[in-house]
Amino acid sequence: MSAQPEYSFFDAVSASFDKAARFTSWDPGILEQIKQCNSVYRMHFPVKIGDKIETIKAYRVQHSHHKTPCKGGIRFATTVNLDEVMALAALMTYKCAIVNVPFGGAKGGINIDPKKYTPYELEKITRRYTHELIKKNFIGPGTDVPAPDYGTGEREMAWILDTYTSMKPGEIDAQGCVTGKPVTQGGVRGRREATGLGVFYGIREICTMKDMMEKAGLPVGIAGKRVIVQGLGNVGFHAAKFFRLGGAKIVAIAEFEGAIYNPEGLNEEEVFQHRKKEGTILNFPGATNILQSGEALELDCDILIPAALENVINGENAPRIKARIIGEAANGPLTPEADEVFIRKGILVVPDMYLNAGGVTVSYFEWLKNLSHVRYGRMEKRFTENLNQAVLGQIEKLTGKEVGDQEREFILHGPDEADLVYSGLEETMISATREIIDAWKSNPSIPDMRTAAYVVAINKVGTSYAELGIFP
Ligand code: GLU
Repeated sequence: MSAQPEYSFFDAVSASFDKAARFTSWDPGILEQIKQCNSVYRMHFPVKIGDKIETIKAYRVQHSHHKTPCKGGIRFATTVNLDEVMALAALMTYKCAIVNVPFGGAKGGINIDPKKYTPYELEKITRRYTHELIKKNFIGPGTDVPAPDYGTGEREMAWILDTYTSMKPGEIDAQGCVTGKPVTQGGVRGRREATGLGVFYGIREICTMKDMMEKAGLPVGIAGKRVIVQGLGNVGFHAAKFFRLGGAKIVAIAEFEGAIYNPEGLNEEEVFQHRKKEGTILNFPGATNILQSGEALELDCDILIPAALENVINGENAPRIKARIIGEAANGPLTPEADEVFIRKGILVVPDMYLNAGGVTVSYFEWLKNLSHVRYGRMEKRFTENLNQAVLGQIEKLTGKEVGDQEREFILHGPDEADLVYSGLEETMISATREIIDAWKSNPSIPDMRTAAYVVAINKVGTSYAELGIFP
């Protein structure tokens, strides 16, 4: 699963960009401006770990300022390098454009193995990194807003927030300097499961499209579909959960140490608890072990969800993949060579930069909540419930009939924060799916859905630049 040495993730993103740019009519100068990373910040800083000083290498890349603030996660991993952070920042620009989140793309990373440090040491590293960002104006609710990514979560976001607010006393919108925070620290309900849920909403929408499903050789709908998930982190876990709740069967789950397979379906929560207890996903009751984790991707299934890292499906293993639909929950799990194989084989690849946009979409909702300083639903929940009560009362009085308890509960319920966040996310993913599919259908020479998604993104960012008057 490790990256091939000659592989450049940024080059792969640029190759996909160039492939799509041919289907747009933008001036080559605008295309070049859209493609390049606007600002690259590479830093080294010292942190005292035990009685030694360690020099930590870290990055923040702002790919585009066509809209501000810039937005994107922060990754903690030993694989973090400049090329990767640049590629991920670029993907954020296109991602935000497609789902109409008014931000430019960014990404950050610290080259560490978070498992090798105590929470106290990680806190020191995170706080120092935040200081470096503040010094160079690379963080702030109106400039650049980090979020969780691979190896980080709510805890790290809380440290970033605390460092920022302590250095910017009195800044009224300071809470919006980072998203993916704990709910008690200005986070929004629904952010944790947002990416996985967005993946589900996106694939579900594709599965309702008769013509797309005919092409894939599958029946319409999610129910009964056999799904394989790679990665049981936050994204993979929640994607598996929502597919299962939607009626699909999770037939295999793959992790670093191996994979497990059960054609009757796996329960992600039970698998998660098993892994926590045993320290491995293997030997899960009722499932077959697959010792070479990568082989699980090649099993027979309807939908394959790579939800781990980039470059896991490439020219080498792509010919052996049997799934009919691949939903890219991770960023960049397929290489351009793999894309070519799947175009030839007629396998539908639902691309990362829109399919996993649920995270940043709900981050946008969190940021709006922080700027408005009020919880979603606070103003209207009771009003709606009282209104619903009155309307239902009138209907029952006029008809002389009563609705059942379950229906009553549903009708009377006024929306709370999670309801509104889910609804906004569902709407976002459905509209984005339709917009990309329409762009694809409107030009039969567009070879795949990724290219169609890039065309949509390039047109939106291009329009934004043009309207700014930068390119008269
Ligand atoms: N790290 C996530 C991503 O790659 C979320 C970014 C955000 O919420 O800003 O999309």
